[in-house]
Amino acid sequence: MNDALEDVISESESTSVPSRLVAVTERIARAAAAAGRDPKGIRLVAVSKLKSSALIREAYACGQRDFGENYAQELADKACELADLTELRWHFIGHLQSNKARLVAKAAHFVHSVDGSSLARELGKRAANEGRGVFREPLPVFVEVSVGGEAQKHGASASDLLDVLASVDAEPSLVLRGLMTMPPPSLDAARRAFEALVSLRALHGGATRLPELSMGMSDDLEVAIACGSTLVRVGSAIFGAR
Ligand SMILES: *Cc1c(COP(=O)(O)O)cnc(C)c1O
Repeated sequence: MNDALEDVISESESTSVPSRLVAVTERIARAAAAAGRDPKGIRLVAVSKLKSSALIREAYACGQRDFGENYAQELADKACELADLTELRWHFIGHLQSNKARLVAKAAHFVHSVDGSSLARELGKRAANEGRGVFREPLPVFVEVSVGGEAQKHGASASDLLDVLASVDAEPSLVLRGLMTMPPPSLDAARRAFEALVSLRALHGGATRLPELSMGMSDDLEVAIACGSTLVRVGSAIFGAR
């Protein structure tokens, strides 16, 4: 085999989903070790938005079980296409409009982006229609908080958080899982946002009421893990640029 061809092959291997998954898992393990934490306490959600079902199957074949989607219709379509992957757990992480709550309540195993009381009520109603909280487990949700200032488009403000959390608690078909944030792009700003989320959790019942922190993406997962993240949402580092 000539050198050029060898280069092409090793390049495509090093950028395949299985090798990228291994690399991300190693980053998580190193960041956990550096923070003196057990890596088992950090769940990896592979963010597959705008990526094909074939790539999701590839990751699933490697043992990945948690996948994140941003768009309600795309989630519903993929949940249908991949219904044979019975251990797959869908995390809805995108901005959720009330008129899409039914689709999401039907397909998602977790919702990370509850950012207001009226959305909590609508999602609660739709999850109840799916039998959640009666003959199925309640739907676990995260409240998304905007802690990074103006740059963040979505999320409840810190001052609204008390009300949004109470609205989730009032829905028997939903169960509070934790807080989520989408930080500004710079690592310094991300660190400040993650620390702010940790403080807000302490203020609103701590880890007993809010056991999980959904924070950290491809570029800032080390910072998030150092700050106490229990769940990182990683897209491009696993599936490539979008
Ligand atoms: C797209 C997205 C991610 C993943 O971002 P990457 O930088 O590709 O890792 C995580 N969380 C949310 C809410 C997203 O929309």
